[in-house]
Amino acid sequence: MRRKLIAGNWKMHGNLVDNEALLHGILAGMGDVKAGVAVSVPFPYLAQVKAKLAGSRIAWGAQNVSQHAKGAYTGEISAAMLNDFECKYVIVGHSERRAVYGESDQLVAEKYAAAQTAGLVPILCVGETLEERESGVTEAVVARQIDAVLAKSGVISLANAVIAYEPVWAIGTGRTASPEQAQAVHAFIRGKIRGLDADVANNLVIQYGGSVKGANAAELFVQPDIDGGLIGGASLSAEEFLAICRAG
Ligand code: PEP
Repeated sequence: MRRKLIAGNWKMHGNLVDNEALLHGILAGMGDVKAGVAVSVPFPYLAQVKAKLAGSRIAWGAQNVSQHAKGAYTGEISAAMLNDFECKYVIVGHSERRAVYGESDQLVAEKYAAAQTAGLVPILCVGETLEERESGVTEAVVARQIDAVLAKSGVISLANAVIAYEPVWAIGTGRTASPEQAQAVHAFIRGKIRGLDADVANNLVIQYGGSVKGANAAELFVQPDIDGGLIGGASLSAEEFLAICRAG
C-alpha cells in the first residue's frame, strides 16, 4: 500500500516573515494528517525551513538543481549544496522550467541523475500542454519525458523517486483535470513502468498537480493510481494546504 505524499511548491513566493507564519500554521494543524508532507521552497529559505521543520513530520526540498556537481556555473545550485540544508526532495522538470527556461527532456534527466547521485529524491514533473492534449498526444508526451530519465538512469532509479503528473493546462489556471482524466494518465504511467519492473511500478508514488484545492483533493486522491499531489498556489495558505493534506 503506497502512502500518499502531499508536496507544496511555493514557487517564487514568500519572505522570511510570511514563511514563518505559514510554517507555524501548517505545523499546528498536522495532528490529523496521515499523508507524508513536504514543502519545496526557494533556495534562500532552505535554512529557514530546516530550522523550523527539523524534527517535525514535514520534509523539505528545493525547486530546481544543477545538473553539474560543482564548478564554474555562476548562479547555479548543486545537489551537494541542497544536502547541506538536509533537503529530502528536489523538483526537476517543472513545466515552468521546461517552458520558461527551455529545459529539455535530456537536461531534466541529467538533473534527475545529479539529484539521485547526491542522495536526494527527485520529484520528476511530466505533463502535456493543452495543444498536445487536444491533438491526442498526451501519452506520447509523458512517455517521451519519462523515457529520457529511463535512458539515463534506468527503471530502478524510480525506486527512489516521485513522479508528478502535471498537465500544463491545469497548473495555476484553476482548471483541474477531472479525476478520470488524471487517473487515466496515472494508470498509463504506472502501466508503462510495470512493463519494465512490477515492484518499482507498484511502489512508485505518482502525484497529481494542477489547481488542487481543499475542495477537489479528495476526489482526486481516491483514484487508485493517484498518490497525493504537488500543490502550487494552495500551498501558500496553511488552511488550504492542510485541507489538502487531510484528504491524503
Ligand atoms: C505546481 O506549481 O506544480 C502546481 C501544480 O501549481 P497549482 O497547484 O497552483 O496549479
